[in-house]
Amino acid sequence: MMTKFIFVTGGVLSSVGKGILTSSIGKMLQVRGYSVSAVKIDPYVNVDAGTMNPYMHGEVYVTDDGGETDLDLGHYERFLDINIPKFNNITTGQVYASVIEKERKGEYLGRCVQIIPHVTDEIKSRIRTAAKMAKCDILLVEIGGTVGDIESLPFFEAVRQMRLEEGYDDTLFIHLALVPILDVTKEQKSKPFQHSVQELRRIGIQPDILVARCRISLDESVKKKISLFGSVPYEAVFTSYDVDNIYMLPMELDRQGMGEYIVKRLSLNNKVPDWNNWNSIVASFKEPQKIVKIAMCGKYTKLADSYVSIIEALKHAGAKVGVTPHLEWIETTVFEKDPSATSTLENYDGIMVLPGFGARGTEGKIMAIKFAREHKIPFLGICFGFQLAVVEFARSVLGYKNADTTEANPSTPHPVIDLLPEQKSVGALGGTMRLGAYKIFLEEGTLAHQLYGANEISERHRHRYEVNPNYWEALKEGGLVLSGFSYDKRRVEFIELPDHPFFLGTQAHPEFKSRPGKPSPPYLGFIKASAGMKIKVN
Ligand code: GLN
Repeated sequence: MMTKFIFVTGGVLSSVGKGILTSSIGKMLQVRGYSVSAVKIDPYVNVDAGTMNPYMHGEVYVTDDGGETDLDLGHYERFLDINIPKFNNITTGQVYASVIEKERKGEYLGRCVQIIPHVTDEIKSRIRTAAKMAKCDILLVEIGGTVGDIESLPFFEAVRQMRLEEGYDDTLFIHLALVPILDVTKEQKSKPFQHSVQELRRIGIQPDILVARCRISLDESVKKKISLFGSVPYEAVFTSYDVDNIYMLPMELDRQGMGEYIVKRLSLNNKVPDWNNWNSIVASFKEPQKIVKIAMCGKYTKLADSYVSIIEALKHAGAKVGVTPHLEWIETTVFEKDPSATSTLENYDGIMVLPGFGARGTEGKIMAIKFAREHKIPFLGICFGFQLAVVEFARSVLGYKNADTTEANPSTPHPVIDLLPEQKSVGALGGTMRLGAYKIFLEEGTLAHQLYGANEISERHRHRYEVNPNYWEALKEGGLVLSGFSYDKRRVEFIELPDHPFFLGTQAHPEFKSRPGKPSPPYLGFIKASAGMKIKVN
């Protein structure tokens, strides 16, 4: 069977939930027995998300194959429980890089290179290659940004052409836009939605399905208006209203008839959806739950999107064992300004030190780690958090004054965390870290081994620094357990402390592989420890 394409576009505002909608559409098709994959188009000129500040753009999601991608790929992977290759995050930067490279090689045979057809051909070829690679029944293609943006025009043009080339039965356009509710009159306003559909039509795309993002269900009259002005049948208008947790959305939309409408419109058989598995996962998020308070110590704490995979991993872990994590965000610079403020950490059931880059806030993070270690509060350190736990141990337990990571202090007398040897000659920033999935070997008899229940695991990575091998012996002698190593035994991947209820750090980012219903082992262990539960072998 040839792959069919569903294009998801957005209007009125960005951040109205296109990624969650795209994932939900995928789920509705999956439960009907169809195989799906997803592509995210990001119209910005960056080649990938790796060089973008998470504070402005949200988390950089790392794929198994080492892509630094948009966080929507994380939503697709979590909802659909599939691994998506980095190729599936298409950006303007990549498209132009290819076109310009071809031009320089003379591949355009003397022609004038233009947006139409050369740039649009490159876009179409990438979308089709993604479909071929995934060998899926349906490929979802989400176009980032908002209709009307200058930078997304070539992408809209390319998918408009795909409708002609692939045919009506094999392509579907779904447009999502905001329907605001006025505070004063409580009225649902459809005008911005209508305008965004007009904008789409102006560039030649008539959507097939319209999804209103509204706090509550659409009023009948508003739905009728959207159908009339958007020129789609009444049955093709759906509402993505607020749900208690995002994993409920696929079922909610299917209940409105969306799954059935999509398969009919794509001339697919409407197989009976099997929601059993998904529903039991969703239900696990709803049960009355014990609350644990987690201190989230980091730097980009003002935008929750900066740590979306970590937040989700904590939720997945909590849902599994009937615990609701309440996350409180702490800018660790506050501890630097006022060291006595660290005592507020006493009020938490667990302390996380988050991934990060650069010197700012590191001393405060080290203070948080020291507090967790000394006061025996469950601690989980991810990547930078792991590295700083080693620094803290070297300073406090081994007595290495001013021990540090060379990232924060290049002239430290004790560089316990130092650049990976292969990083020393790297100049460029984009795509140059140790990236993606690597095998990890876990030492038997350790907490890490107990959590995973395996000798050999694979987790994703994104880092430049590592535990300096010159200090391994001293750290071990001081009582730090090095419990996981890279497969070649050249790098430390996990550390832990034995005389502590739960003190675990990892160089990896296990959150990227956490899925609803299948929580990541370190996160599960951390949540259990924070809730005072026993950690059993898997
Ligand atoms: N800055 C550290 C490094 O590059 C940690 C990176 C991270 O936390 N993702 O190794």
